[in-house]
Amino acid sequence: TSVRSNSFRLFSRAKSVFPDGTTRVTVERDPFPVYVQRGEGAYLVDVDGNRFLDLNNNFTTLIHGHGYAPVSEAVVGLLNSGTCFANPTEHEIALAELLTSRIPAMERVRFVNSGTEAVMFAIKAARAFTGRPGVARIEGAYHGAYDWAEVGQSVSPGRGGWESPPRARPVYRGTPQSVLDDVHLLRFNDVDGLERLLAAQHQHIACVLIDPMPSRAGLIAPNPGFVAALSEVASRYGILIIADEVLNLRQGYAGASARYGLRPDLITAGKIIGGGFPIGAIGGREEVMRVFGTEDAKPLLPQGGTFSANPLSMAAGRVAMEAMTPEAFDRLERMGDRVRLGLRETIARRGAPFSITGAASLFRIHPTPIAPTEYRDAYLDVAGMAVMRRMTHQFAQSGILLPYGAAACLSTAMGDGDIESVLSAFEDFLCAETQSGKG
Ligand code: PMP
Repeated sequence: TSVRSNSFRLFSRAKSVFPDGTTRVTVERDPFPVYVQRGEGAYLVDVDGNRFLDLNNNFTTLIHGHGYAPVSEAVVGLLNSGTCFANPTEHEIALAELLTSRIPAMERVRFVNSGTEAVMFAIKAARAFTGRPGVARIEGAYHGAYDWAEVGQSVSPGRGGWESPPRARPVYRGTPQSVLDDVHLLRFNDVDGLERLLAAQHQHIACVLIDPMPSRAGLIAPNPGFVAALSEVASRYGILIIADEVLNLRQGYAGASARYGLRPDLITAGKIIGGGFPIGAIGGREEVMRVFGTEDAKPLLPQGGTFSANPLSMAAGRVAMEAMTPEAFDRLERMGDRVRLGLRETIARRGAPFSITGAASLFRIHPTPIAPTEYRDAYLDVAGMAVMRRMTHQFAQSGILLPYGAAACLSTAMGDGDIESVLSAFEDFLCAETQSGKG
């Protein structure tokens, strides 16, 4: 067991300044957080000198791992000449050119500072374009904290079981009823539910908001039939498709929609495109993006932001993305295949009640013998949560930070040895489960 006394001391200090000791609800604790001292490529070193392989990478942001030298050099070069201006810079044009040349759904783009903001403006753009208020979205998927993107949880199975059809529920006490009234939930890969909902509500619905492989909802691939039905039904009713690729843009050179044959009207990005600096982007068809304004008309949808398109995020993002050549994506994909296959082989060999989902550089381990096909299967009940806690704890003991209930991700800083250590940590975990009679 590693020593963690410095993390413990920092957490005690933090508790007197932050309401729960942290400044974001997503900080993991076991039972207190690992405070980072520094990052080194695929690894991070905590304040007690422990070294961990980082499978979190700030929630899939750092596609090159920590301290990637080309990004650091680009940013250091800018620091002394001003870090934000009211005026535009060439840096934003260069990143926009890179993204629009790679991602088919991004004919035009606008930059903001987070994925939350990107999703917020994409929803507003769909409303401005269609003149309708409503949002249809996938049950259990995560899209950030804009109210209409946030209320996406149906009621969890308890006494009554899952609700059918799913209904948006308040995320916090005091959630306006009007928000709930304007959000319609869909089950992932449910073609009938999709057709029923859009047929009944199309006059109210501006957009279907969908992450092609929603990580919180299970990191499950979309069925080709669902993708085809979505395009067909949405265009029948003049409803826009927003692909939220804040996380999944990392699935390929052209992004996740291109990979799965989805043709969205709007697309949101974030995370990897900022090279480790805050960023978000809204892209889309030229015709739809005109809501942000044209050279000769006032915008239907005003969008600003003090730090939007700041040169640090723009330059860092461009350097990080330039290094993501098709070959770099291929290499990550092969490493991802290797880790998913290896985990599945271990599960099969030991007859363990686990399953694996994911694609490209992403994977999730589920405490269910059959791989989930939608959020309801991937939902962790109390027993499932306990298994996942033991697993992340065991991984930490093996020097690996495995995100809890979210996508684990690889970075270009990782090598074969890192993949092997993930597989052997999982084997050790299954061994411990068997020995304790829990497996
Ligand atoms: N959409 C998706 C699909 C995400 O994964 C996230 C962040 N995990 C967001 C939106 C929100 O992004 P941010 O945390 O940058 O606001």
